[in-house]
Amino acid sequence: MSNRSETLFAEANEHLVGGVNSAVRAFRAVGGTPVFIQRGEGAWVEDVDGKRYVDYVLSYGPLAIGHAHPAVVAAIAETAASGTSFGAPTEKETALAQLVKSLMPSIERIRMVNSGTEACMSAVRLARGYTGRDRVIKFRGNYHGHVDALLVEAGSGVLTLGIPGSPGVPAAVTETTLTAPFNDLDGVAALFAEYSNDIAAVLVEPVAGNMNCVPARQDFLEGLRKLCDEHGALLVFDEVMSGFRASLGGAQAHYNVMPDLTCLGKVIGGGLPVGALGGRAEIMDYLAPTGPVYQAGTLSGNPLAMASGIATLTELAKPGVHAAAAAWTERLLAGLKARADAAGVPLLTHQAGTMFGVFFTDAPSIERFEQVEQCNAERFVKFFHGMLAEGVYLAPSAFEAGFVSTAHDEAALAHTLDAAERVFASLT
Ligand code: PLP
Repeated sequence: MSNRSETLFAEANEHLVGGVNSAVRAFRAVGGTPVFIQRGEGAWVEDVDGKRYVDYVLSYGPLAIGHAHPAVVAAIAETAASGTSFGAPTEKETALAQLVKSLMPSIERIRMVNSGTEACMSAVRLARGYTGRDRVIKFRGNYHGHVDALLVEAGSGVLTLGIPGSPGVPAAVTETTLTAPFNDLDGVAALFAEYSNDIAAVLVEPVAGNMNCVPARQDFLEGLRKLCDEHGALLVFDEVMSGFRASLGGAQAHYNVMPDLTCLGKVIGGGLPVGALGGRAEIMDYLAPTGPVYQAGTLSGNPLAMASGIATLTELAKPGVHAAAAAWTERLLAGLKARADAAGVPLLTHQAGTMFGVFFTDAPSIERFEQVEQCNAERFVKFFHGMLAEGVYLAPSAFEAGFVSTAHDEAALAHTLDAAERVFASLT
C-alpha cells in the first residue's frame, strides 16, 4: 500500500465527505485505502508513489481508447484554446450527435446532458410526459444514476454500501417506481397485467454492469420490446455503460432490439463529463423547446466534452478497432479462467464486448441479481487486494463490471495473467 495515498486520503477525509467525490471510490466494500492516481497512459495508471497498474476501471468505463490518447488530448487542448463554454450552439454538438446516430440507428434525435444520471432522469420525465402515465418499471440490481425515483433496489455503489434505497427520497417519489427481477419476463408481464394503462416506461440496462456484468438474455429484451408495444409503454435502454462497449453500436446493435429511448454517458464524453438522451424523433421532440417537457443545462453540449467525445468515438469507430479490443477481452477472460482452474478456484466469467465480469462461484451460469449476491464476497476481496498489490487495478466492488480499452496490449495481458496466476494460487 502506498504511504502517500494514506497521507492524502487522511487529508482528503478532513475536507471531502468520506475522502472521495463518488461513493464507489471509497474502498468501503474491500477495506483499506483508495489508491491516489497521479497519471494515466494507455492501459496503465500510476499512483502517487510511482507504482504502475494495468487499469480495468478506466474511470468506470469512459476511457474506451485508454488514458490520455493523443487524439483526445489534442482535441481538448485545441478546443480549450478557443474558449471553454459559450451557452450558445457550437458545431461540435451536431458533429457528436451525427457520430452517435451513425453508430446507433434507433436514435433520430439527441439531447446532450452532463452525466448518465441526468440522461436517466430526463428519460423518465420525457417518458412520463409523452405517455401521460406515471409508473416506470426498473430491475433489481440495475443502476440508473442517483435519480430519486430510480434509487430503488439499485446496483453499483448503492448495492456495494448495502443501502436498499436512500434516505432523502420521499416514499411519494418512489411510489410510482415498480421493480422486477432482471432477466425474468414473467415478473414484468405480471406488472403490466396489474398496471397496464399506467406504465410510462420500462428502464433496463441491457447488459447489467452494476451487479457485476450480467448480459440480458436475448428473449428477455425481445419480450420487453413486445410487452412495451402491446401496452403502449416506452422501452428505455440505459446504455450509459454498455454504449459503444457491448458492441460498437451498443447493446441494442448486439441484440438487435431497438429501444424507444437510449440513455448514454461515459464513452460518449471520452473522460469528460457528458451524458445524452436519444431516441425516436417523435418522442424526443416532446422535449423543450419543441415540446412541453422541460429540460436544460448551463454546460450541456460543452465544447471540450464534445471534442473529447468526437475524438474518442472517431478512433473507436475505425474498422476493426472495437473488435480488436473485444477479442483482447476474450483472451483476458480465457487466461483468467485457465489460471483459476489450474489453482482450483471456481470462477465464472462474462463478457459483453469490452465489458466483463468475474464471479467467484461454482454456479454454471448467472442471470439473476440474487445469484450475483450469492458469490463468494470474501474471495473477491482477497483477489482484489492481491491484484492491486501485483499492479492490476480493478473496481473495489464485486458488483462493478470491468472495462478494457483499445490500448490494452500484449504487455498488459501478460502482466495481468502473471499476476492472476500468483493471486489465484494464494486464494486456496
Ligand atoms: N446508468 C448506468 C447504467 C450507469 O452505469 C451509471 C453510472 O455508473 C449511470 C447511469 C449514472 O451515470 P453518471 O455516474 O455519469 O451519473
